[in-house]
Amino acid sequence: MNTTANSVLTQTIPMATNGTSLVAFSSKRLNREWKTMEAMMKIHCRDHHNTTMSLCAECQGLLNYANVRLDRCRFGEDKPTCAKCPVHCYQKTRREQIRVMMRYAGPRMLWEHPILSLRHWLDGFRKAPEI
Ligand code: SF4
Ligand SMILES: [Zn+2]
Repeated sequence: MNTTANSVLTQTIPMATNGTSLVAFSSKRLNREWKTMEAMMKIHCRDHHNTTMSLCAECQGLLNYANVRLDRCRFGEDKPTCAKCPVHCYQKTRREQIRVMMRYAGPRMLWEHPILSLRHWLDGFRKAPEI
C-alpha cells in the first residue's frame, strides 16, 4: 500500500517543492514503475500543456488513476509492464490515454531519464505470474 492510497481519489498526491511526488510504494519494483510513470507524464504535460513544475489537472487526474491501479496491482513485486499484462485493469479510456502519453514520452525518456528508460525496457522482459 502506498502513502497516498486513500487520498488519491481527491487528487492530493503529496508533492515536494521540486515538483516530484512524495509517493513511496513498499516494493522496489512498484517504486520504479511509479517513478517511470511520473517522469513520462511530466514530459508529456510539459510539451503539450506548457507546464513546468506541476502537472495540469487533466494529467494529474490520469497520474492519480495510474497511482491507484499500481497500488492495487495484483502482481506486486512481480509486476510485468502493463503493456505485457494479461489482466489489463485500466478502464478502456484511461488505457488509451496512457498509451497516447507513453507513445510520446517513451522515446524522450531515453534522453531525459536514460536509467529509468533502460530499467523499464528490461522490465518489459518480465512475464506475469500465472493467474
Ligand atoms: S494492467 Fe496489469 S500490471 Fe498494470 S497495474 Fe493493472 S494488473 Fe498491474
Ligand atoms: Zn497536462
